[in-house]
Amino acid sequence: MALPPILTDPAILEGYLSDASNTRGSAEGLVRPASVEEVSAVVRHCQQGAIPLTVTARRTSTTAAPIPEGGWLLSTEKLDALYALNEAGAGILLGDYQRQVEAAGRFFPPDPTSRFECSLGGAVACNASGARTYRYGPTRPWIEQVEVVLPDGRILVADRSTPSPWPVPQWVQPQVKTAAGYFPTDNLLDLLIGAEGTLGVITRVWTRLLPLPAHVLAFLAFFPTREAMLGFLAEVRAGRHDPQAPLQPRCIEYFDRRSLDLIRGRVPVSAADCAVSIEVEYEGEAPLDVWFEALVRHDALVDDTIVAEDEAGLARLHAIRHALPAEVNEIIARNGVRKVGTDFAVPDAALPEMLALYDDTGMPAVCFGHLGDNHLHLNFLPRTQSEWTDAKERYMTLARRAVALGGTVSAEHGIGRLKRAHLAMMVGEAQVEAWRALRKLADPNGILGRGVIV
Ligand SMILES: Cc1cc2nc3c(=O)[nH]c(=O)nc-3n(C[C@H](O)[C@H](O)[C@H](O)COP(=O)(O)OP(=O)(O)OC[C@H]3O[C@@H](n4cnc5c(N)ncnc54)[C@H](O)[C@@H]3O)c2cc1C
Repeated sequence: MALPPILTDPAILEGYLSDASNTRGSAEGLVRPASVEEVSAVVRHCQQGAIPLTVTARRTSTTAAPIPEGGWLLSTEKLDALYALNEAGAGILLGDYQRQVEAAGRFFPPDPTSRFECSLGGAVACNASGARTYRYGPTRPWIEQVEVVLPDGRILVADRSTPSPWPVPQWVQPQVKTAAGYFPTDNLLDLLIGAEGTLGVITRVWTRLLPLPAHVLAFLAFFPTREAMLGFLAEVRAGRHDPQAPLQPRCIEYFDRRSLDLIRGRVPVSAADCAVSIEVEYEGEAPLDVWFEALVRHDALVDDTIVAEDEAGLARLHAIRHALPAEVNEIIARNGVRKVGTDFAVPDAALPEMLALYDDTGMPAVCFGHLGDNHLHLNFLPRTQSEWTDAKERYMTLARRAVALGGTVSAEHGIGRLKRAHLAMMVGEAQVEAWRALRKLADPNGILGRGVIV
């Protein structure tokens, strides 16, 4: 199979050289293969010539994972066909894929906030998560099979019965939601999920689908104190693994007081210390009573609760939720200094301590995110370069504490190029060395995703 055209026009390359972390890279060539055979031809060519090859999809990564340091870029944008409801090209936009699945009454649960900007293959490569991860887990359990081009150019279809061609270092992952380091497994599919494009190019994905939930009830509840919110959370989480429990949310999201201040114009409350947003799937009658009783038991400011029972209401709540990252990005752009944001998750018992640590930032900041999984994003909003340096130091101190408490340095965004030092701090040099040996065995010339993860 011939190589697809190799584009070298700097004006075209320019659009592929940065991601959501604003890291800039460089590349000598760009290929946009339209078939798995073309992908294989590119990979073989690069392996023979020892040309670094970086897989790039929609570049929503926050960790510079798709940003090349020289060599060629392989874009998955033309691999975007929908073959069947449960089978699609890796380059398809995740949100578009989900819309089509839902139009047919089926449901693909993974919901990274970026799903209308990122690709299905990117979500698989990063084992992306979202708000619904509380109930459904990350992307991994929703992937049945992938077609992949290995670093030597071989084309394979891998499922969980396909052994990894290389011995995979085993290790004990922290017992929290995590997207840090290679998955300890013997099968090729699970190894590729979360490998951030370092062990193969995923070209096609087969998903596991559920029936579309009949109805969704959502609400945003406000609490006068953090203690009240934590009491409510404990009651809800007590039933997490009990299908008979009356409170069965699919998401539990958090907004601290600083976050509420930022979106004050959109929410009606002044007395709240924090807010929690909940989504619940149901059939028949909306389970409003049981939730309001729980809110009352925990002193929520129930009169202020915003409830959504229909499409318009859900859209309003989503708009409130999404207003926050948009505000944060605007402030960052105005300040002209890069954001520093955490992605740590910790065990349940460690949440109060992390929340207290997140209060002390020494500069403007907001804290929000996936409360149910103790996975909050603390966003420092530095106003000057010296505050940015301070934020980076505070970030590392928090990362060490999260790890000491049994947590992870990355619950969903992955390691990429920017968090290698954090991963090494979390797992130790011996583990990193074992992963380097895996990479060397799989990819002797180290072409794929050079500098990513290790
Ligand atoms: C506003 C915003 C919100 C976000 N919210 C979330 C969130 O809620 N949850 C979450 O988990 N992440 C989130 N992210 C991070 C990011 O969107 C996800 O990691 C996403 O899955 C990346 O997909 P992408 O198509 O943009 O991949 P890219 O950014 O282009 O690439 C990411 C990595 O995947 C590899 N890759 C991509 N496609 C393939 C493929 N076909 N085969 C092999 N490797 C491949 C690349 O080489 C790279 O290492 C967010 C990012 C932004 C900017």
